[in-house]
Amino acid sequence: MTQDLVNGNGHGPSSEVDGRTVPPLGLTGQQFINAATNAVQDIEKYYSTIEDRPVLPSISPGYLQKLLPSHAPQDGEPWQDIANDIEAKIMPGVTHWQHPKYMAFFSASSTYPGILGEMWSAALTAPAFNWICSPVVTELETVVLDWLAQILALSKAFMSSGQGGGVIQGSASEAIVTCMIAARERFVRRQLEGEGMTDEEESEDRACEIRSKLVALGSEQSHSSTKKGAVIAGTRYRSIATARKDDYALTGASLRAKLEELTTKGLQPYYLTITLGTTNTCAVDDFASIAEVAKDYPDLWIHCDAAWAGAALVLPEYQHLSAQLSFVDSFDINMHKWLLTNFDASCLYVQKRKDLTDALSITPAYLKNQFTDSGLVTDYRDWQIPLGRRFRALKVWFVLRTWGVSGLQQHVQHHIHLGNLFADLVRSRDDLFTMLTPPAYALTVFTVNARRRQPVSIGHTTANGADPRSDQNSHVTITPATKTDDVAAANEATKAVYSIIDERQEFFLTSTFIDGVFAIRVVSANPLAEERYIRQVFDQLVKVGEQVLEETC
Ligand code: PLP
Repeated sequence: MTQDLVNGNGHGPSSEVDGRTVPPLGLTGQQFINAATNAVQDIEKYYSTIEDRPVLPSISPGYLQKLLPSHAPQDGEPWQDIANDIEAKIMPGVTHWQHPKYMAFFSASSTYPGILGEMWSAALTAPAFNWICSPVVTELETVVLDWLAQILALSKAFMSSGQGGGVIQGSASEAIVTCMIAARERFVRRQLEGEGMTDEEESEDRACEIRSKLVALGSEQSHSSTKKGAVIAGTRYRSIATARKDDYALTGASLRAKLEELTTKGLQPYYLTITLGTTNTCAVDDFASIAEVAKDYPDLWIHCDAAWAGAALVLPEYQHLSAQLSFVDSFDINMHKWLLTNFDASCLYVQKRKDLTDALSITPAYLKNQFTDSGLVTDYRDWQIPLGRRFRALKVWFVLRTWGVSGLQQHVQHHIHLGNLFADLVRSRDDLFTMLTPPAYALTVFTVNARRRQPVSIGHTTANGADPRSDQNSHVTITPATKTDDVAAANEATKAVYSIIDERQEFFLTSTFIDGVFAIRVVSANPLAEERYIRQVFDQLVKVGEQVLEETC
């Protein structure tokens, strides 16, 4: 009977098994095949017609509560009723991140191989905290992260064959806080060892004293997750200033000044986030000068947050950056942003896995097993904050195998080309717009001029149209966006243009505020992004820009 229900040999969902009215797996086998086939067809239709939908939902906050009953159903419902509600109730509240007119924040990839990876991961569900919980979950993760490290040309020290290795985390923020905890505990451990502390209680008291002096650092342009991480780690957080003249990159000189200022005050810097591709403008910190400073601070854990722009390291012309990163303790890239993998797949690498396991490994009796005890296997629970973990490596494996290295390179190059095209269009109308920083990693950040200016010649892209930052020798001169007395007027104009585009809801763009300047960010880099949409959004910006300037002049 149970078998029949699972396989769907003639029994409906209301047939009883051991007194249960719902089949053990929710649907019979045949019902599942029908439901899944329909769902896959609907998903394909969703993607192939996504352009027909508005990119942003036009509902009001709380819309769903009005559509749904206030209680879960007492008795199970037929699957078809549930499936119908995807279009009726869910779709109206969806922001379509895969829409080609989505150009906001950074992209979050979704692809068919990624979706299939998620399906199989769900099918093989196992919160595989220890190797023995499902050995393949661990082993595939180690293999694909070693593959990715090679694709990104990371130092061999980040690979599992040495003392390092990679682990998939849920997000770049999670990776940061995980490393921060490991950094904090490494700092405390080294200090206690230096002081020759051995008594357990005395050590614990002293550790608390040491922790109270610790400071985590990021630059003004670091993602907010570093500050949040410091709150979670229970330490101070200080940010280091960046300047427009450095394109908002953190420099070794300002890092050194901050470290000296803190140590003079009796505080202990223990952790620093440096960034390859900041959220505001895709700035790249000055790794070479930071590496020089790092030599004088061996207890400072340096984490490179490459959540978005790390994907560009698939291209040889960016790999000089990978070569400069051999001094960092940890490096993280979100494959779920720009590398075609469905959320979540934040790939964290460390040079010394022991730094993570020393801080995060606690083995109560119920987690002990012969394989863990043998020391021959990896238990990824000791590399992360949660215990359980999903089979995320499958989707990474599917993606890497579907595209291959050359496919990944084409994918990233396509978006960098779109970014450069958009930046060129913006430059072509410098009577209306001003670039705030050089275009980078498919992102363009620009402002609307306070009033029409005579066109001036600014900036350039490299001969092959590549992002100028891939060429260390190229220097892009950006005309200051606004003279000091024009800043407020330019902000007003930029906000007006942004608001009109936002209200129209045809394109989804985001804005930011840097150094008192309100700017518009455009990044078109999901898998369905195409040149024609770049041209369309630019035309719309020009029309709205002209209208706003007409009204204000
Ligand atoms: N770091 C950078 C540079 C980011 O741009 C972002 C988000 O866009 C994050 C970290 C946070 O990413 P996550 O959502 O994976 O925590």
